Amino acid sequence: MQFDEIIKNTNYSDSNKPNLLDYQSKYDDFDWYKDGFSKLDWLPDGGLNNAYECVDRHVKNGFGDKTALIWLGKNGEEERYTYSEFKDHSDKFGQVMLDLGMKKSDKVFIFMDRLPELYFAAMGILKAGGVIAPLFSAFGPDPVKDRMLDAGAAYLVTSPDLRKKISPILKDIPTLKNIIIVNKDNRFENPLLDDDLDYSELMKNVNSDTFKLVSTSQYDFSIMHYTSGSTGKPKGVLHRHQAVVQQMLTGNWALELSHGDIYFCTADPGWVTGTSYGMIAPWTNGVTQIIYEGGFSASSWYDIIQKYNVDIWYTAPTAIRLLMRAGEDVVSKYDLTSLKFIGSVGEPLNPEAVVWGERNYKLPIHDNWWQTETGAIMCANYTSTNIKPGSMGRPFPGITMGILNDEFDEIKDETSGILAVRPGWPSQMFAYWKQDDMHNSRFKKGWYITGDQASRDKDGYYWFQGRADDVINTAGHLVGPFEVESALIEHPAVAEAGVIGKPDPIAMEIVKAFVTLNTNYEQTEELRRELIRFAREKLSAGVAPREIDFLETMPKTRSGKIMRRLLKARELGEPEGDISTLEDD
Ligand code: AMP
Repeated sequence: MQFDEIIKNTNYSDSNKPNLLDYQSKYDDFDWYKDGFSKLDWLPDGGLNNAYECVDRHVKNGFGDKTALIWLGKNGEEERYTYSEFKDHSDKFGQVMLDLGMKKSDKVFIFMDRLPELYFAAMGILKAGGVIAPLFSAFGPDPVKDRMLDAGAAYLVTSPDLRKKISPILKDIPTLKNIIIVNKDNRFENPLLDDDLDYSELMKNVNSDTFKLVSTSQYDFSIMHYTSGSTGKPKGVLHRHQAVVQQMLTGNWALELSHGDIYFCTADPGWVTGTSYGMIAPWTNGVTQIIYEGGFSASSWYDIIQKYNVDIWYTAPTAIRLLMRAGEDVVSKYDLTSLKFIGSVGEPLNPEAVVWGERNYKLPIHDNWWQTETGAIMCANYTSTNIKPGSMGRPFPGITMGILNDEFDEIKDETSGILAVRPGWPSQMFAYWKQDDMHNSRFKKGWYITGDQASRDKDGYYWFQGRADDVINTAGHLVGPFEVESALIEHPAVAEAGVIGKPDPIAMEIVKAFVTLNTNYEQTEELRRELIRFAREKLSAGVAPREIDFLETMPKTRSGKIMRRLLKARELGEPEGDISTLEDD
């Protein structure tokens, strides 16, 4: 049966959408996506390109004059671009990259703030067959170097200030061919260093008419994001063009995006939400997207929603908790009645936040769950089903989720266990870049192991319990303790470092470090501050520890591994559990 027919034949629940749970029983494999695939335009030769589906398709289908992007600069600027203009800019940038010699699957790092040029570049690179690797602009030199080296970065698109911040590490990337500098509105004087290329000059010298989209197949690589694990440096998660189908469908069904909507996503493209739902899902669904260059601010965000009549708002629990803290008086100053849907992702959404949203925005907040590796929403509270506050909702049609015991066998009752997904969904990561063993270790007994603990209730709703590993979730961003420990031990005073996530009422967790010192160094307040500063400069304020404690000895296993679990238990005053492997002092 075709998708549209099923819609007709399905009983409607509390909204004008069919009840997705009815699909769940009909589609226990990935057939559902066949209908989604048929909604895409595809390339004339049978190829699939996600940027084509985001931009060119709408122009071809007569929506070229519709606004694709409204950019709000941090200095009060406003720029609007139609889908036709978006196509023109991205085609030109695609041509720039082809002229520079970019080959299919070359990795192009994009390290910049949320400027329109970031999106033109991203779509241009994708149309020209390259792989985009966007990085969070707050990163310090160390994380940028680790990621560019690991990926074998071929090109970098950045802005003058960020280029300066990471200048010293760029000479250490042997694969890097060109650095392209976007000096938005000439914000910086003398923007170019060494052999840097100027974005505006490059764009002036090409003609969008000469650009021919490079035919990519659905299996070609498109986007690479780095994500943290509990051991080793962050891993590159490689996605393919075919992810577009799931991003489009979940955008429509879990976030309610459709033609004509005004959409505001607060995630940065440096993280997967900012590409899957800050680029691909909204533009494949033909919405007008607000891109706000500034960071969190309750009044600016409300102002944007009011002024631009935002219909759909996708944000994160830390932001919602900050909005709650900003108070009901602030909300009441704004007319937010244009809103018809609010979604949240990245961390557990407290039930109080759902209720608070309902009271203050006259709308509940819909939590959904997914991760960098899954590429798209896996499980959500939909408008067509009742929200259970505090739950991440139910699996998307075609997605089979399960709770497993320690032997990776499914548990059918309501006990909590390992959260797992049956592999094979279209936006599933292709690989951890050059880390096959790590990739394979995530698949057990026919399941993809998510790294989270959860439970499922009798109605099929999933409830997040926590991470199954040491990865820290701070303000919705995953931080690998190893990356922070590695940075700290580069300081001459530090002998060993152990890093944990400490519960926090706003950010869910903050990064906390424990260090032992080399001889000749004293445990002073000054040194503590110096270490925090040192880590901030190397990593970024979000990744660096907010607290550091000195220890005389570091708890380690007999094989020499730092026992982060024990550090955490001691910090929280909890039972120390099994310490039989603890090394004697
Ligand atoms: P990332 O890969 O950086 O997007 O982070 C994915 C991780 O964030 C998941 O594995 C969870 O640990 C956490 N996460 C994402 N969404 C939710 C949610 N709705 N509730 C609880 N945790 C979440």
